[in-house]
Amino acid sequence: MRKISKWLAGSTLILLASACSEERVSTELELAQQTSDVIQVTNHDGQPFSTQPESTDIRGSFTAGPGGGVMMQGFYWDVPSGGTWWNTVQSKVTDWSNAGVQAIWLPPASKAQNGPFSMGYDPTDYFDFGDFNQNGTIETRFGSRTELEALISAAHAENMEVYADIVLNHNSGGQLEANQYTGTNTYTDYTGVASGKFPRSQHDFHPNWVHSNDLGYFGGFPDLCHDVPYVQDWLWNRSDGVAKYYKNVMGFDGWRFDYVKGFEPWVVSAWNNAVGGFSVGELWDSNVDYLNWWANEANSSVFDFAAYYKMNDAFDGNNLNVLNDDMMWKRNSYKAVTFVTNHDTDEISKKMLAYAYILTHEGFPTVFYRDYEEWLDKNKLNNLIWIHNNKATGNTSILYTDNDEYIARRNGYNGNPGLIVYINNSNSWLERWVPTNWYSTQIKDFTGHSGWYPTTQSGGWVKIQCPPNSYSVWSPNI
Ligand code: ZN
Ligand code: ZN
Ligand code: ZN
Repeated sequence: MRKISKWLAGSTLILLASACSEERVSTELELAQQTSDVIQVTNHDGQPFSTQPESTDIRGSFTAGPGGGVMMQGFYWDVPSGGTWWNTVQSKVTDWSNAGVQAIWLPPASKAQNGPFSMGYDPTDYFDFGDFNQNGTIETRFGSRTELEALISAAHAENMEVYADIVLNHNSGGQLEANQYTGTNTYTDYTGVASGKFPRSQHDFHPNWVHSNDLGYFGGFPDLCHDVPYVQDWLWNRSDGVAKYYKNVMGFDGWRFDYVKGFEPWVVSAWNNAVGGFSVGELWDSNVDYLNWWANEANSSVFDFAAYYKMNDAFDGNNLNVLNDDMMWKRNSYKAVTFVTNHDTDEISKKMLAYAYILTHEGFPTVFYRDYEEWLDKNKLNNLIWIHNNKATGNTSILYTDNDEYIARRNGYNGNPGLIVYINNSNSWLERWVPTNWYSTQIKDFTGHSGWYPTTQSGGWVKIQCPPNSYSVWSPNI
């Protein structure tokens, strides 16, 4: 009797315990289902961002994978001087290609006023790539023309595109001349540039015979006037002008336009019309209406400064609800280039969370050289780049947000299942029931941060988890 009653008691306890835990699960799930508030963020057909021109693809061989590719910003402010930078970048291109990097953005490649020390944003001679003795040096800070051409060839051999940084707003390093428009002496005489190409003078800068100014000046530099037909010819119309020379002779595949607040967006549109290729503008502004307006007017993609500032507010301000706010990639994912850091600005401290965000979301994500090569865990970034290229497909739904949690779903495209990303900005493990598009399917965390292999219910619901101050990325275990 004692034995039996003991067995009965034990068995009752087990039954009670299992009933309890089943009840807890179903209550948890029911609560999640009742409070579920899936927000559809984008509504297109799910095709990823593509840098390939719609018509003919010059290179044609790069296959970025179902989620699209990733851009490397191949420099930072004040890279080592001495003419070694092109070689440094060249030594990395095979590794970057293997990691899934599709394109490299290089700093302005032509001779600038500050000669061997310049980062290139004070351009004097658009056709001196480190092969003329000018502004105190033959090589640029980054190296010789031969080294630049070797780097571009090496990138092409790895099926990567190379984007030139184009400074069109201003020039620097001209000679002094008496200026009839200002009545003063100005440094607007570029008639003696060593390449002999695109000689300019006071008539080509503001104020001039066309008008007194365009949208903006930068730091007092002579401000180029793109309304002058001669300037248009040399920048993009002539077959030996800047755009076509950079593309056809130097081999650049696309353009990053510097300081586009300084001139009207039709300038970039005219350039792109004349020469084609990938295009992105640096419109340093968090206003999504402004970014989207510029991108449409310029026929160009644009850096998503809105997403940059929202990520900073969300991750560093510990309020991930901010990620529900408007961003350029939500407004037009095909014209948004996302980034966590660049050569000018580096404010986000929770960088891996921010990379987990941009590399699982829409737009064309940029990885910053120092983050990749020096500051962050390269293996973790490579894993996120792989996830981006292989799983980050489809339009986006936000599944859950609160102060320290963010869960979003990429809904898949063309047979690719998409993913669910879980970002945890708290100091403890978290778990949550979420609605997937996968039914009775085993899923796993492709970051390896969680060891769970849960199976989704017949209705698609599943419980996922995320480690503290980290992220997990879920997709069918195939
Ligand atoms: Zn003008
Ligand atoms: Zn300007
Ligand atoms: Zn800048």
